[in-house]
Amino acid sequence: MVRFQVKRPINIDAAQGTKLSKALDILERIVNSEGFRRRVLEHPGYTWNEGLTNEQILHRLIWGHAEPRLGALAVPRIVTFDYELVQRPWYKKLSSVRGWRVPGTNDIYTYVDVFDEMSAEELASHLGHEVVGHLAGEFDHPERGGPERDGSVPYVIDGFIEELAKKPSLGEAA
Ligand SMILES: [Zn+2]
Repeated sequence: MVRFQVKRPINIDAAQGTKLSKALDILERIVNSEGFRRRVLEHPGYTWNEGLTNEQILHRLIWGHAEPRLGALAVPRIVTFDYELVQRPWYKKLSSVRGWRVPGTNDIYTYVDVFDEMSAEELASHLGHEVVGHLAGEFDHPERGGPERDGSVPYVIDGFIEELAKKPSLGEAA
């Protein structure tokens, strides 16, 4: 099991903090669910998968290792990150970018305009892309949009999380 914790929240007021906690709750429930596990394992043909099997991809996302030691599975893994809301600069008003993680760090940023627009469920899937795909799993994707990017682990699991967040019984079967 994997859990998520914001170590240092920056530019986040009380209402935004409440939404953030709710989104992280949703994200934890989904990522640790049987429904998520099955979707990750059954998805055909990830791009940028670093030669890993689907099972190894799932292990990287949840445990941080493609081949976790058996003893490690008994203890929840805690993924911590610093999270900052930033103003979108005027010259990026038309950009569809919601946020990013600085590669090699645990710093995650979201534009405050989209943060405020997103529901907790949408925020859970955005954070799933950054916190689970990029940070917890260390998967990457091409910058340019297209099938190769859409098939990458962060984009594919973003879709699974969005789909599962809409279900009333979060992450349960079918
Ligand atoms: Zn990304």
